Amino acid sequence: MPGVLLFACNGPKPSLERYSLPLQSSPRLRRSQEVLSAVVPLNRPGISPLLREIFCSGRVRTLPPRLHRSRQRTTLLAMSFVSIGNGISDSKSLRLQRFEQLLAPASESEFESIARTARALTIQNFGRTMRLFAPLYLSNECINNCRYCGFSRDNPILRVTLDLDEVKAEAAHLAAQGFRQILLVAGEHPKFVSSSYLADCVRMLAEQFASVSIEVGPMETQEYRPLVSAGADGLVVYQETYDRAIYGAMHTAGPKRDFEWRLNCPERGYAAGFRKIGIGALIGLAPWREEASLLAAHVEYLLKHCWMAQISVSFPRLRPAAGGFEAQYEMTDRELAQLICAFRVTFPQIGIVLSTRESAPLRDALAPLGITTMSAGSHTEPGGYTHQGSATIHQTVRGRIVAPEFSPADDRIATGQFEISDDRSPAEVAAALDRFGFDAVWKDFDQALAAI
Ligand code: SF4
Repeated sequence: MPGVLLFACNGPKPSLERYSLPLQSSPRLRRSQEVLSAVVPLNRPGISPLLREIFCSGRVRTLPPRLHRSRQRTTLLAMSFVSIGNGISDSKSLRLQRFEQLLAPASESEFESIARTARALTIQNFGRTMRLFAPLYLSNECINNCRYCGFSRDNPILRVTLDLDEVKAEAAHLAAQGFRQILLVAGEHPKFVSSSYLADCVRMLAEQFASVSIEVGPMETQEYRPLVSAGADGLVVYQETYDRAIYGAMHTAGPKRDFEWRLNCPERGYAAGFRKIGIGALIGLAPWREEASLLAAHVEYLLKHCWMAQISVSFPRLRPAAGGFEAQYEMTDRELAQLICAFRVTFPQIGIVLSTRESAPLRDALAPLGITTMSAGSHTEPGGYTHQGSATIHQTVRGRIVAPEFSPADDRIATGQFEISDDRSPAEVAAALDRFGFDAVWKDFDQALAAI
């Protein structure tokens, strides 16, 4: 029963039927989860911590015997956001309803009012600080075909997987620039990017970096645990689109085709011990307001059920990449600003991440509105910071390695995932933040504070 959260209710039958249906109709849920029934005295003193542990650990496989012995009838169901998400349109909380109102087309004065509130809440909750991090791409090998991504299996691009020494050199470059928070990124290819390879990378980098997060192909809970033990604290997994039909059309081959496997991934990561979880939607695949509503529902669910984790969101907009895919739905800069404000006003405590996909002037304008975390000086190609991996770079055509059209001695770098827009150095980004009164934070102190 990997990645499962449990839901408790005092048993009105319609509720049971409603939540059971998605479980029965999903082949993956039928395979990987089970509906649990028990008799639980919710009102008995001392039971709440036990239930809280069950809800949040995701590790309980069988119900504790003392729950079976109790008299008051309650039902526990194995749950995840997948089963909630299936019926979300019928059961929006007041908070989600207010969120949708904030997304509606707004006049200048209405937008100003939302922006003022968002700015005040950001300063109140996070001060005038901005956490800076850098992505370190380990590999651009991938067995999936995602139509929007430069790393798609069928794209004829230059690929490489960095070995540990090459990863170390890239990381040393980032550390010298001041970074103490790093995001390890890789395409999904178990042969090149295995769990043990990732654990070795994390173990090596955790000595140097205060925070090591990963953004790699989704795994089982038990595969994540060695990464957490090695020192990884953050898991980033964007759903890309919450629209099932569009998701199916965008992911044409590979394990990523499984919508629910991906949707459950943050909960599996939380169960494994990740305490920073990043989710998001790739803007441009589906109408952005619908996408944002489901992303907000996902945030609301994770805040409630993965309460020990720091939740963050991101709304990356599509950028040019190998394959030439173009956005199917537009979002203007002002709409992006409104979306950031809506999330900040609705969820004052979450992190909001803004990447170098956006231009420098826009990032400077958006930063005070609700952003807590920014990447800076990013490269999206493995080896991109210090030209590592050039000896093993190879070209693939429809997933097959072909004879290279260049000499291994040439100073080649692998193909990037997408083009960045803000190409300022980390120091230039920090200086710009300083100009409008924000301090760049290179190290995430949350862990140290939590330990006090
Ligand atoms: S989005 Fe991820 S899974 Fe899809 S092709 Fe790119 S790297 Fe592979």
